[in-house]
Amino acid sequence: MPHKKFFHRRLILVTLLIMIGVLVMIYFPGSEAQSAAAPVGIVIHGGAGTILKKNMPPEKEKAYREKLTEALMVGYEILRNGGSSLDAVEKTIRVMEDSPLFNAGKGAVFTNAGTNELDASIMDGRTLNAGAIAGVKHVKNPISLARLVMEKSRHVMLTGDGAEAFGKLNGVALVDPKYFFTKRRWQQLQKLKARQREHPKSEIEPPVQLDHDGDDHKFGTVGVAALDKHGNLAAGTSTGGMTNKRWGRVGDSPVIGAGTYANNQTCAVSATGHGEYFIRGAIAHDISAMMAYGGASLQEAAHHVIMEKLTEMGGTGGVIAIDQKGNIAMPFNTAGMYRAYIGGNGKPVVKIYKE
Ligand code: ASP
Repeated sequence: MPHKKFFHRRLILVTLLIMIGVLVMIYFPGSEAQSAAAPVGIVIHGGAGTILKKNMPPEKEKAYREKLTEALMVGYEILRNGGSSLDAVEKTIRVMEDSPLFNAGKGAVFTNAGTNELDASIMDGRTLNAGAIAGVKHVKNPISLARLVMEKSRHVMLTGDGAEAFGKLNGVALVDPKYFFTKRRWQQLQKLKARQREHPKSEIEPPVQLDHDGDDHKFGTVGVAALDKHGNLAAGTSTGGMTNKRWGRVGDSPVIGAGTYANNQTCAVSATGHGEYFIRGAIAHDISAMMAYGGASLQEAAHHVIMEKLTEMGGTGGVIAIDQKGNIAMPFNTAGMYRAYIGGNGKPVVKIYKE
């Protein structure tokens, strides 16, 4: 029966080929078949604060929604095309740094001395490598310098003139400080200074004394957390800090574990809010730690750390976070937080107020 024999041989061959295919898909996670099914996700924030619908002119709301969507789509396209979460984080943050709407890059707030001092950080959840810069005055896109610190130096955090010298050495274009001037931020500084003259004691108090004034002028930091097709998480944060800051004050945004954290085993987190509390509470790392050591879900961990721990400490603000499965959390204890995300269904969602 030569025919039957031939048929059997072909069946064995086909079965073998299918088995090899399955094995390749299991052992090479980068292969197309697996990549197509792997989830990607991105979540961003543009700062938390006393952001109330009743105080928000419709054109301003529209401008924020459009810029958040534009930034989100830049990162999502990178992820959808198989790019890395680090690229998505950096490129998305650059869009927000270049917009005067946010307190980062172009729209940075002013210090008490009338300067702009910028902080940023980025973390790679795959390697736990991280880079940060603080107090730079001439760097157009601080997030890119933070990434250079991570990838081209043996250090995690560089500050001030030294950070800028390192940037120059690595081809970062420095800009005239005038680039950062925006009328809106300048007026916010003048307003705060006038209030300080009325209450001179507050000048030597920590910024908490000036915080509860029903205005969103201190916050507006930007941050991104992303998951790529290869299962890698990354997070980054960029800020001008808090209006009227002095004495070289640095907040949580460039502090790994406080304002930014990423670990492939748990989650990627970026924070915004009153930095001193986020540093003291090790907020971003705490969320990761609850997942790692306590087995909490992303939602449970993020909710607990912001709505209970931070709130009980007296701190204000929020976080955006994503885990390895693409779950997203965005808790905050302020009136609003500019935020947006794209999850598994590929549809952008933008939110501002409590909803
Ligand atoms: N966390 C930032 C800081 O304290 C401020 C912000 O989030 O807007 O510097």
